[in-house]
Amino acid sequence: MALHSALLAPGFKTTPWWWEAAEPPKRDTTLPDHAGVAVVGGGYAGLSAALTLARLGHEVAVLDAERIGWGASSRNGGMVSGGLKVASGALEKHHGKEGARAIALAAAASFPFIEETIAREGIACDYVRCGRFVPAWTPRHYDALAARAEFIAEVTGLPTRMLPRERQREALGSDHYHGGMIAEASGSLHPGKYARGLAEAAERAGARLVDGVRVGGIRHEGSGFRLSTDRGEMRAEAVLVATNGYSRDGRGTSAMPWLARRLIPVGSYIIATEEIPAETMDRLFPGRRMISDTKRVLNYFRPSPTGNRILWGGRASFGPTDPASAAPVLHRFMSEVFPEAKSLRITHAWTGNVAFTFDFLPHIGVQDGIHYAAGCQGSGVAMATWLGHRAALKIAGAENDRFALDGLNFPTVPLYNGNPDWFLPIIGGWYRLRDRIDRAAA
Ligand SMILES: Cc1cc2nc3c(=O)[nH]c(=O)nc-3n(C[C@H](O)[C@H](O)[C@H](O)COP(=O)(O)OP(=O)(O)OC[C@H]3O[C@@H](n4cnc5c(N)ncnc54)[C@H](O)[C@@H]3O)c2cc1C
Repeated sequence: MALHSALLAPGFKTTPWWWEAAEPPKRDTTLPDHAGVAVVGGGYAGLSAALTLARLGHEVAVLDAERIGWGASSRNGGMVSGGLKVASGALEKHHGKEGARAIALAAAASFPFIEETIAREGIACDYVRCGRFVPAWTPRHYDALAARAEFIAEVTGLPTRMLPRERQREALGSDHYHGGMIAEASGSLHPGKYARGLAEAAERAGARLVDGVRVGGIRHEGSGFRLSTDRGEMRAEAVLVATNGYSRDGRGTSAMPWLARRLIPVGSYIIATEEIPAETMDRLFPGRRMISDTKRVLNYFRPSPTGNRILWGGRASFGPTDPASAAPVLHRFMSEVFPEAKSLRITHAWTGNVAFTFDFLPHIGVQDGIHYAAGCQGSGVAMATWLGHRAALKIAGAENDRFALDGLNFPTVPLYNGNPDWFLPIIGGWYRLRDRIDRAAA
């Protein structure tokens, strides 16, 4: 305990470091009687959908159970990529060659879309196209990455290149890995500022954003829908559910149980270190790229937009834990990669939920007339923004091409109700063990 508390800086907080500059502001909590489109969930997906719908002239209300932007969208690592996790030759097994290409392209299109949205809406969110370095945990991972880099470059045209171990220090101040892949079409932003800016853009376009309304059920009524909430009922002609990793609350209620049964919420944790001299940061992060490694239980880390802190993220636990208990675990992971960071203290540690799917793909679609957009596998800054936009075009009947992530078979497993607590520790433990075995074998 004494050792752990020595790691925590005075004034240590369990709220996101991002909230120091951009905590989600409080908004009106009055439930409207009616909206053309009701969007449930005020993260990037819901806000991006609202922005597009409002621009197309629709009357939109976004309802969030907490605050607009309160979920993963103001807690994440701020790493922006164009579907790097989706694009892989392994897609061909289930979707065939053409299907795999269409899916990889649809995912890659999220990257130009978010860049365009930030520029068009003038969102001040510290966006930089800094590139991503994906270091390999083992030599076999390096070979698999090289195959993936080829697939990404060939199918999506996004530039990628491999950096062998002997040149690794050009991208990362550590010898912990076995070389890696550089993806130049990747960026970084301040997620809190981006969530705030996207919300303001949606409001400017005419969307109504409402805090503190938890939707507990959606039923058909006439040609539209009636939403029951903890603040009364509301009617809407169309509904989009964008609740992602928060689709089922602690009491087991959900706006759309069908969706909750298809999403696996997983807690991801991040720590922020105290301030570090610029020379150290230059040595640890030459090129100041975003980093996410190839472990099954991955580490992702980056310099803060202010350039003087390390933000280190990972899955500190697969069981119930709190950010203060997760902090020493992440600190240990960080010190393994950067031994010189061992003496750094932690000023903030926080958590948020990501949503995995059973087929590892993001999805939009319609079920029982209700639209949904979800399942970004922990990589949704660009993707959730894109999925929300694409779902909005579909609702508005304004699509002019077929979107390959729309209407795919969306699997679940028997008896799964949206609560993974009974199997996550087992699968997470198995993944960690496989990471150790792989490394030992290397
Ligand atoms: C710690 C962490 C690090 C991450 N790092 C990265 C990264 O570096 N790069 C990257 O690309 N992605 C990252 N992600 C993933 C990314 O943040 C998410 O994919 C993205 O923010 C999802 O946006 P969303 O709008 O779908 O969901 P969210 O932002 O989670 O929003 C869902 C909202 O729905 C609301 N809600 C839930 N149920 C109801 C209900 N019944 N009624 C009303 N409202 C409801 C919630 O209050 C919440 O605000 C990270 C996520 C986490 C948690």
